[in-house]
Amino acid sequence: MSNSAPAIRVAVVGAGPAGFYAAEALVKTLGDAVSVDLVERLPAPYGLVRYGVAPDHEKMKSVTRLYDRTLADPRVRFLGNVDFGRDLTLEDLRRHYHAVILAVGSAHDRRLGVPGEDLPGSLSATEFVAWYNSHPDYRELEVPLDAKTAVVIGVGNVAIDVTRVLAKTVAELSVTDIADHALDHLAGSTIEDIVIVGRRGPAESKFTTKELRELGELANADIFVREEELHPIPESLAAIEGDVNATKNLEVLRAFAKQAPTGKPRRVHIRFLLSPLELRGNGRVSSVVLAKNRLEARPDGSIAAVATGETEELDAQLVFRSVGYRAKPLAGVPFDERRAVVPNDRGRVLAGAGGAPVPGLYVAGWVKRGPSGVIGTNKACAMETVARLVEDELPEPVDPRPEAVLELLAARGVKPFTAQQWARLDAVETAAGAASGRPRVKLADVGAMLDAAG
Ligand code: NAP
Repeated sequence: MSNSAPAIRVAVVGAGPAGFYAAEALVKTLGDAVSVDLVERLPAPYGLVRYGVAPDHEKMKSVTRLYDRTLADPRVRFLGNVDFGRDLTLEDLRRHYHAVILAVGSAHDRRLGVPGEDLPGSLSATEFVAWYNSHPDYRELEVPLDAKTAVVIGVGNVAIDVTRVLAKTVAELSVTDIADHALDHLAGSTIEDIVIVGRRGPAESKFTTKELRELGELANADIFVREEELHPIPESLAAIEGDVNATKNLEVLRAFAKQAPTGKPRRVHIRFLLSPLELRGNGRVSSVVLAKNRLEARPDGSIAAVATGETEELDAQLVFRSVGYRAKPLAGVPFDERRAVVPNDRGRVLAGAGGAPVPGLYVAGWVKRGPSGVIGTNKACAMETVARLVEDELPEPVDPRPEAVLELLAARGVKPFTAQQWARLDAVETAAGAASGRPRVKLADVGAMLDAAG
C-alpha cells in the first residue's frame, strides 16, 4: 500500500438508506483515514427511497439530498450495477477491504402460507410497490386491475401505500414519479372497493398515524370502519399505554367509524380480527376466506389472535399480501432463518446466533434488525455498526489498493456505474419530469439507464 492510500478501506454493500448512513458515519468518524466503496446492484442509488417510498410521498424522498452529499464526498466511491454475490463475492471483498458492511435490506416478501396464495390475482405488496416505482426487476409484473374488489392483507404502512395507489385517480398520480407503465395500467383499473384486513385489533395495527389519517382524506374514496371491530381488550389498552402513535391510531379509527360516506367513486374499508385461511378461485382469485378472531393476552404480555371458529368469505378478484418483508441468506454470510436477519451483536456479524464475531464483517439496516422503523431509523442503526467497526481490530486485506477491485471487475467484464453517470441519469430523469409537470420520469430498464448516462 502506498503511503498516500487511506489506512482503512471499507466496502458498504447496498446503497439504500442504511448504506448511505453507514458511509456517512464512516467518513465522519474516520476522516481521511478511510475510503469507502458503496457497492450497489442497480445503476441508481437510494434503494427503498427510490423503489419503496410511495410516489405520492415526494417529500419523504428529499432525504436523497443528504445522500448526495455522501456521494459527492471524495472519500466515497459509488460502484453501481455491481451485483454482490455474482460480480463480487464476499471472498473478493475480504481480499480488497479491511471491513465489509452489508446493508442489503430485506427485499423479499413474507408469505401467508395459505392455500390459493399462488393463484393469478394474488400478489405480494412488495412486488406491486416495486412495479409502480419502476424497479427494473418488476416492470413486467402482471397486475390484473380488472377487479371490483382488492383485498390487502396486513395493517402496516405498506398496506396503506398500496391502498392509496389503488384508490387515487390517474390525475392525482400523474403528477408524481410513478412508473409510466403503472400509470397507463391504473388508468384502466375497475377497482371500486379496497379492503385492508388485520388479523388482530386496531390497537395492534402497525400504521403510523400520519399515514392512517391520509386514508380518511382521499379525494376519490370514502373510508369505512366498523365500530364493532374497534373494541380492544383491556390488556390491549394496557399494552399501548404511553404509546402515542397507537393511542392516536385508535382515535383516528374511531373517527373513521363515524365518518359519513359522501358517495366517492371508490371505497376503502379497514377490517380487523380476520385472518386469511384460503384464497379461492378457478384460474384466478375470486374470494378470500377469513377466520374471525378474538384477542387473547398471553403470559409473555403479547396479544394474540385466536380463531373463534366462525369464518367470512369476501368476494375479491385481487389480493395483496402486505405482511412484511424478509431478507434472504447471502452466500458465505451467517443467517438466522427464524428471524430472517444476519446474526449480529450491535452490527458485528456473528458466526451464528450467540456465536463469535466474524472479524471485519458488519451489517446495518433491515438485514441487521429486521424490516421495521422508518427511513431515519437506519441512521442510528448504521452509526451503531460503524462505532463497533471503529473499536475493532480489522483483518489486513491481501490487496487494499483502490484500483484492485476495479481491475477485478474489469477482468470479469463488469463496468461499475459511477456517481458521475448517476448524476447524468438523474438529470435526464428530472428533465423528462419537468417537461410533464412531474418530479421525474424514472427509467425502469437497466439498458436504458446505462444508455441515458452515456
Ligand atoms: P409491518 O409494519 O411489520 O406490518 C405487517 C403487518 O402484517 C402487520 O399488521 C402484521 O400483523 C401483519 N401480518 C404478518 N403476518 C401475517 C399473517 N400471516 N397474516 C395476516 N397478517 C399478518 O410491515 P410493512 O407494512 O411491510 O412495513 C415495513 C416497515 O416499513 C415498517 O416499519 C413500516 O412502518 C415502514 N414503512 C413506512 C412507511 C412510511 O413511513 N410512510 C411506508 C411504508 C413502510 P401482526 O402485527 O399481527 O403480526
